[in-house]
Amino acid sequence: MMMKTKTIFAWKDRESAVAQAAETLQNGGLVVFPTETVYGLGANAFDADAVRHIFEAKGRPQDNPLIVHIADMERLADVAAEVSETARRLMKAFWPGPISIIVKKSARIPDAVSAGLETVAVRMPGNDLARAIIARAGIPVAAPSANTSGKPSPTLARHAYEDLCGKVPLIIDGGPCRVGVESTVVDATGEVPVILRPGDITPEMIREAAGGVRVHHGVMSEAQKDEVCASPGMKYKHYAPKANVTIFTGDKKEVAKCIHFRYYSDSMQGRKAVVLCLDECAGLYPGCELLTLGAGAKDAEAALFRTLREIDEQGFDAAYFHAQEEKMGLAVMNRIIRAAGHRIVAAGEEKE
Ligand code: AMP
Ligand code: MG
Repeated sequence: MMMKTKTIFAWKDRESAVAQAAETLQNGGLVVFPTETVYGLGANAFDADAVRHIFEAKGRPQDNPLIVHIADMERLADVAAEVSETARRLMKAFWPGPISIIVKKSARIPDAVSAGLETVAVRMPGNDLARAIIARAGIPVAAPSANTSGKPSPTLARHAYEDLCGKVPLIIDGGPCRVGVESTVVDATGEVPVILRPGDITPEMIREAAGGVRVHHGVMSEAQKDEVCASPGMKYKHYAPKANVTIFTGDKKEVAKCIHFRYYSDSMQGRKAVVLCLDECAGLYPGCELLTLGAGAKDAEAALFRTLREIDEQGFDAAYFHAQEEKMGLAVMNRIIRAAGHRIVAAGEEKE
């Protein structure tokens, strides 16, 4: 069913943005709202029908659970039946902020939210506008990223509009997202926190706060369709532009050699290619179409999804990603691996 999609610019009229977003959520409607990570597509987390509309609007697989957002600690008990000591430490250290913490689910949270799991991921977002909307609505807000399933997450309201126009009644435009990749997802039901999805909050920061950390092996492996997953989101190819994305890792010069070779073959066949890399490698690609991701991990996080969308906007057929794992960080590497599917090439020992 198509509907009229209204956009409110929060910097022009914040009060009306908060009021209308809260009212829409209370009435069982969907609202696109900004967070510090990416734009979210929110619904009342207590309302199974409203939550089902999220899955429909995104075309999201039913078995991929949603993160529930709260605005203050007093409301945690609405969502969680049990909060471990590990979870409390993480909340104290990083909330409000870009980390979702998996805890035992309260009976008030319907199965539609948790995809039938006994646990639920909870987050208190750092973005003031997001917290103001959730607080005004007075309910926990279930929200995945506001993109069509499989496409790069939205870091501008325009991205969400492109994907969801006609499918949601309201978009709150709060400007570009500061972080740019989705929250770190941590399973805190055990003694040692386990990172299921890397984000701006790094393993080192989590170790410091909780005294230990594990990174799930699925984080840096390619999406595996039939694997039984600790986190259902792990098994899907995500964030993919229409263009073929290939990742090259290894020695800088070897990588550049491989990419030049591929780029040249593409040109010979009339295919339009582009290279993605950090600023410091831009000089290795004279004469190539180039989209740079900035100086390091933080810049690359903020630029990645916008850049993946640009690849399609500019009509490229192939994108070559010059990986520098140490400098780009886990979150960027995890997202680009998901975007590329199986196409990872170790330069120097090229095989696919
Ligand atoms: P998104 O909403 O698109 O940011 O995706 C949410 C991510 O959190 C997905 O990868 C989910 O699989 C993961 N997630 C949410 N709830 C749980 C849970 N209870 N247990 C494990 N992973 C979860
Ligand atoms: Mg998502």
